[in-house]
Parts: sequence; structure tokens; C-alpha cells
Amino acid sequence: MQYLGIQPKRPKIAVFDFTGCEGCELQLANKEETLVDFLAAVEVVAFREVMTDAGDDYEIALIEGAISRADEEALLRQIRDRAGVVVALGTCACYGGVNRLKNTFDLGEANREVYGDKPKETSEVRAVGDVVEVDLAIPGCPVNKAEVERIVQHVVLDVAFSFPAYPVCVECKQRFNICLVDRGQLCLGPIVQAGCDAPCPTGGRGCWGCRGPARDANVPEYLSALKEKGFGEDEVRERLGFFGAFEGAVG
Ligand code: SF4
Ligand code: SF4
Ligand code: SF4
Repeated sequence: MQYLGIQPKRPKIAVFDFTGCEGCELQLANKEETLVDFLAAVEVVAFREVMTDAGDDYEIALIEGAISRADEEALLRQIRDRAGVVVALGTCACYGGVNRLKNTFDLGEANREVYGDKPKETSEVRAVGDVVEVDLAIPGCPVNKAEVERIVQHVVLDVAFSFPAYPVCVECKQRFNICLVDRGQLCLGPIVQAGCDAPCPTGGRGCWGCRGPARDANVPEYLSALKEKGFGEDEVRERLGFFGAFEGAVG
């Protein structure tokens, strides 16, 4: 791949999975129409989901999943020491994701309920950035492959990348959708970071906020607007807490 006749450097990347469903990794692997270009732009040295070789000479580490065990924390610290750039890939890595719901239960009780007399080692779920320094966080459950590809282009060409400064509503309107809130359905679009191209409202389901808060989102104001429209506090709180991305946004 050349740009202005220059052959950019192919960074060595490694992909690691922690507590998550591996759906973000699947996004990297399954978009076949751009996979060849993607692999031409980077050199993949480790990616357990798609290859057996696993090298430890990498510059960029993509981290999928949250951290919920002591061995995960130790491995993550080791990766941070080796990699020049650490990327949190997906909502689990950026915020804890749906795993974070576990933190609302007593861990001992939950362990007994699920595993009976064979409890598993488990600890509070943390985002990657709660454990080590993160250079770039790409939210999404799963991540949007087109956005990841744009970010890779920027990294390879050493050009700064910025996420959209607007919320999901803008992309929703670009897709000519009629607003679901006006139809009585809860949607977090006005306070959520864009970049996903609004697949949920386009498919008739309100946004659950997997990409986290939009820049300068006025969360309290939107919550009071939802209240005025008759949405219940419990429903709104459940929605905001689902991905762990709005912790602290409501009391
Ligand atoms: S962010 Fe979503 S798709 Fe990605 S690993 Fe977590 S649960 Fe799976
Ligand atoms: S459906 Fe949701 S994302 Fe779309 S315009 Fe309405 S509030 Fe915004
Ligand atoms: S519309 Fe909302 S829930 Fe759906 S992918 Fe985008 S940010 Fe995530």
C-alpha cells in the first residue's frame, strides 16, 4: 500500500482477548472485502482467534475485553510493558461493558449461585484503562470495522485521528430515520458518541449507549427531557448502566 509514492511502515500488531465475547475480534477478521488491504497495512504477530503463531515482538497491542481476574491483570501489565501503543478495543475494554453488571452483585453469592461448590476465581470488573495507561480507546459493542480501518490508516500514516464531535442522533438523521423517542421508545442517541452509523435506531431499536458519552453531552438535561416525556427513572437508569459507560452520570 503506497500513499503519495511513499511506502508507510507496517506496524507489528498483536490482538489479545480478556473478559468479553470476542465479537470485536471477529469484526477485525470477518470483513472480507477489506481484509487483504488491512493485512497489507499491518503485520499481525499474535491474534489467537485467527492464528496459532503468537509472537511477542509487537508495537501495537489491541486489547479486547474487560479485566476480571488477577491473571488477566498480570498479563495486561506485561503487554503494557512490551507495547509502544495500547489500544482498548470495544466497549468491554473501554468501559467494562456488559460484564460490569457483575459489579452490582455480591461476588461471593453470584459465584455460589452460578458455580455451586466449585467457585471460580473472579474479581470486580475493570476497564483496561483502570489498570494500565491506554493510548487509544475505540468504543463499540462490537467495534465498527470501518471505523477501526480508518484509525489504522491514521496510525500507519502517523496522522492524528479524532472521533466525531457529535452524537448518534446526527448519524441517525443522516439515515432519514423518524425519531423513536417521538414514538415513545427510549433512545440514548442525543448523549452517545457517534461513529457507529446508528445501526440500532435504524433497525427500530433505541440506542443503548455502547459507545459511551458523546463529547460535551449534557446528560442531566437529556435525563430531565426523558422524564418530561414520561420515561421511568428505573428504565432510564437500567439503560445508562447496561454497558457501564455512563458511570457517575446519574446519582
Ligand atoms: S465490546 Fe461487545 S462485542 Fe466486543 S467483546 Fe465486549 S461484548 Fe463482545
Ligand atoms: S431515534 Fe434516537 S438517535 Fe435517532 S434521532 Fe431519535 S433520539 Fe436521536
Ligand atoms: S446506536 Fe447506540 S447502541 Fe447501537 S451501536 Fe450505536 S452507540 Fe451502540
